[in-house]
Amino acid sequence: MLPSAFDYHAPATLEEALALLVEHGDEAKLLSGGQSLVPLLKLRFAAPAHIIDIGRIPDLSYIREEGGFLRIGALVREVELERSELIAKRYPILKDTASVIADPLVRNRGTVAGNLAHGDPANDHPATMIALGAEVVARGPGGERSIPVAEFFQGLLTTALADDEILTEVRIPAPVEGSGGAYLKLERKVGDYATAGAACWIVLAGDGSIASARIGLTNLASTPVNATAAAAHLVGRKPTDETLDKTGELAAAATSPGKDRRGSVEYKQEMARVLTIRALKKALARAQGDVRSRP
Ligand code: FAD
Repeated sequence: MLPSAFDYHAPATLEEALALLVEHGDEAKLLSGGQSLVPLLKLRFAAPAHIIDIGRIPDLSYIREEGGFLRIGALVREVELERSELIAKRYPILKDTASVIADPLVRNRGTVAGNLAHGDPANDHPATMIALGAEVVARGPGGERSIPVAEFFQGLLTTALADDEILTEVRIPAPVEGSGGAYLKLERKVGDYATAGAACWIVLAGDGSIASARIGLTNLASTPVNATAAAAHLVGRKPTDETLDKTGELAAAATSPGKDRRGSVEYKQEMARVLTIRALKKALARAQGDVRSRP
């Protein structure tokens, strides 16, 4: 099907884009890489009267460490995460994630910001950003605000972004000594959305126990799952098989998947359990500096 007719705008600055958003209100939709929006337009699940293409705005395509954060600009595409040496070395969980999203064609165009702003629990970055304790920066007519990712996903395809806000940056706390994370995804075939996915982040204390942890899960509820009880179970404990097994059980208990072509509820919950344990083991190896665990 062809999209319904719309006016196309290509603002040259963020200010211009914001002014267009304010002018056209809920009749406007931002376009970034187009990898989620264009399919929706073609199916006519979305029919905005105005498309505001932010893809030509300069200075939004950066990956840099600054002020204690990794900062990812709004126009950074998946392929850039995949190929970045900084990401491979310091944030391997992001490389795990970007490299299992869709296929190279989608990754050449799709942006990290768009992946989050779309609010799809089947997308892979949300779980990873929950595990990383990320925040997103939103710019609106009234200025800029920062939103913790844990509060960002409010419902199916619904985020905390207001209609007149643009997600300009993703901020991830720089890794501390003894920390490590990993993302694992089960897919029916390469390029598919997740049947289930688990992102785990841990920080080890000097005695080898776990000082802090976060766990995010993909496509296992109507929003990305922040498995807080599972993560809390790790804190203060040594990462023994018993601890990891219990954490996997708690992670699965935090999910509420639906039955579909990817599997039954029971199957998906079992995959949540298994993937959580495996991702934790990989995160642990990375936190301990095991070079074989690097992507
Ligand atoms: P767009 O499609 O341009 O926009 C998506 C939504 O976000 C729109 O509502 C838009 O208005 C809004 N938006 C975009 N940027 C901003 C911004 N800066 N501020 C505010 N709002 C914004 N994703 C996965 O995670 N895993 C997969 O396995 C996967 N498989 C896919 C397979 C196929 C065949 C396709 C076509 C897509 C797949 N996707 C998958 C989805 C895709 O990776 C992302 O959702 C997509 O790339 C979103 O980023 P984008 O830049 O393309 O956003």
